[in-house]
Amino acid sequence: MLKNPELSIVIPVYNEDTIIHTFHQRLSAVLDALPFSAEILYVNDGSRDSSLTIIQDLQKKDPRIGVVDLSRNFGKEIALSAGLDYSQGDAVIVIDADLQDPPELIPTLIERWQQGFDVVCAKRSSRAGESWFKKFSAHVFYRILQRLSHIQIPLDTGDFRLISRRVVDSLKKLRETHRFMKGLFSWVGFKTTFVTYEREPRVGGKSKWNYWKLIDLAIEGITSFSTRPLKFATYFGFLVALYAFSYGVLIIYKTLVYGEPVSGYPSLMVVILFLGGVQLITLGIVGEYLGRIFVETKQRPLYLINTYEPGSFADSRSIK
Ligand code: UDP
Ligand code: MG
Repeated sequence: MLKNPELSIVIPVYNEDTIIHTFHQRLSAVLDALPFSAEILYVNDGSRDSSLTIIQDLQKKDPRIGVVDLSRNFGKEIALSAGLDYSQGDAVIVIDADLQDPPELIPTLIERWQQGFDVVCAKRSSRAGESWFKKFSAHVFYRILQRLSHIQIPLDTGDFRLISRRVVDSLKKLRETHRFMKGLFSWVGFKTTFVTYEREPRVGGKSKWNYWKLIDLAIEGITSFSTRPLKFATYFGFLVALYAFSYGVLIIYKTLVYGEPVSGYPSLMVVILFLGGVQLITLGIVGEYLGRIFVETKQRPLYLINTYEPGSFADSRSIK
């Protein structure tokens, strides 16, 4: 084990001016009690409120604070990646600014890391303050994803986790533009363990997620980690073709034996509409993948930064 390990705390921030103060207080209280030096890296994801100013004010009092200011809002997954890119610690802890992930869990995460784990995920045992529909849809999504992709994405874990330097370095090699961090975290592998905690409701501000964004994230997760939906399209096509063929045989037989008294409009309509639907779905699935290939081939940088001010590794003794 390392002798004087240094920690990096990475916090993506988007319009969180109502809670940053409280968050920083609780986080520093935890860090102050630890015998390690730490940097606190806030990634400002193009906030439109006063989050950045608040962080810069805090920075004057606390030299541990570093700020990566992105050029615009890139979304949490990319903000997180930017934070990992700039982090320098031997272990990096990723945590949300809204206090839904309790900073008080950090010592436990570190303890497990020092026992030799590379990834220590915080697993929530309850999700207070979230609607039953959100819990239900999250549950269904994770199970579908598990079925479809070959990598195991742990259930009920968010991004709140500790990862060791070598995991961070591995993650830095994955530069795809469409990022589903939970999937990428699992894809790199390494020795993983879990610590459970009670997920609290947000302390202030609003969740940045709405159902459309969640649906997008779900499609992102599935299409970046599995190509099985493409196979569904093929299987489904086969099934329909088989059915259509047998039905065709049946109709020919009936016409030959009994003759055809009516014009057959309803059956025609049903077949046309059904096949039209199947074709559209299939095209849609193919399109989702094609779109992703298109975006990836452009090879744009993941994000652009406005400024980066590094924090210094310091422990509580050198601050006061
Ligand atoms: N966040 C971000 N960029 C975004 C949206 C959110 O950096 O575009 C940050 C946000 O400030 C918070 C974390 O990501 O620190 C989690 O966001 P939120 O609480 O809205 O997500 P939820 O907890 O509802 O999944
Ligand atoms: Mg939250």
